[in-house]
Amino acid sequence: MENLNYDVWILTVGNELLIGRVVNTNASQLGKMLTLMGFRVSRIIVVPDDIEEIVEEVRRATGRVRLLVTTGGLGPTYDDLTLEAIARALNRQLKVNPEAEAMIREFYSRRGMPMTRERLKMAVMPEGAMALKNPIGAAPGCVVEEGGTIIISLPGVPEEMEAMFKSEAAKILERIAPQISIVECSLTIKGVPESTIAPAIESTAKKHPEVYVKSHPKGFELGAPVLDVRALASDVDRGSAEAAALEALAYIKQEVVRLGGSTDEARCG
Ligand code: ATP
Ligand code: MG
Repeated sequence: MENLNYDVWILTVGNELLIGRVVNTNASQLGKMLTLMGFRVSRIIVVPDDIEEIVEEVRRATGRVRLLVTTGGLGPTYDDLTLEAIARALNRQLKVNPEAEAMIREFYSRRGMPMTRERLKMAVMPEGAMALKNPIGAAPGCVVEEGGTIIISLPGVPEEMEAMFKSEAAKILERIAPQISIVECSLTIKGVPESTIAPAIESTAKKHPEVYVKSHPKGFELGAPVLDVRALASDVDRGSAEAAALEALAYIKQEVVRLGGSTDEARCG
């Protein structure tokens, strides 16, 4: 297999995301979960329910990133096009996936409902796909691999997306995730404007290139400035990751005090 490192793209599908009716929480939720697993999320894409647009992005990702995670467009309606687009992008046939069909049959028969054409549509997947069980909804997820890229398709409904990610997708991802621990520590700073502490943040970031340090302004730049500073570190050893993140924050803390501000104790998670 080609070595595509740990780069991940997230492709969220849905007109409602583009017109501002729905906030793209799937993107942020996936970004967080994948980052904490050690992947490097390097692009988040939003496309409408348009087959050509989905095909274009799937083709762009294939052979380029290790993992593409899509959300949305797995349901029974005419505008749910994600798996058809993936099949087209990979030049694969669309077929009823027997595992997916069994999952859907079970979901509806338990509720005393028959199989219909629309329900069966949710079992139609690219040839060679693996179906993922939906722990709380009807539409199964789908996994295909092509050119070193794993494409995992999850439902659009956030609760279903998260449940499937945690119970099904995570098992696959843990096998390919880097064997490292990721730790994020944060510090709240009061009384120092972001522009004043910026040089200290830059120098700590340079001194600790293995730690990603970023300030997030919460209050107003002038008046009553409040900043949340976050340090994200990774290491094969969890203790070393935490120590590196804390060391980066300790320097900032010292500078804040020198500049007449105050901080709380750093917290790690
Ligand atoms: P369904 O089986 O319910 O049709 P689906 O996989 O086809 O699910 P969509 O039809 O694309 O998913 O989206 C279903 C609903 O989930 C949307 O109406 C929206 O409320 C929500 N949703 C979709 N994508 C996102 C997203 N990226 N972030 C947050 N919510 C989303
Ligand atoms: Mg749908």
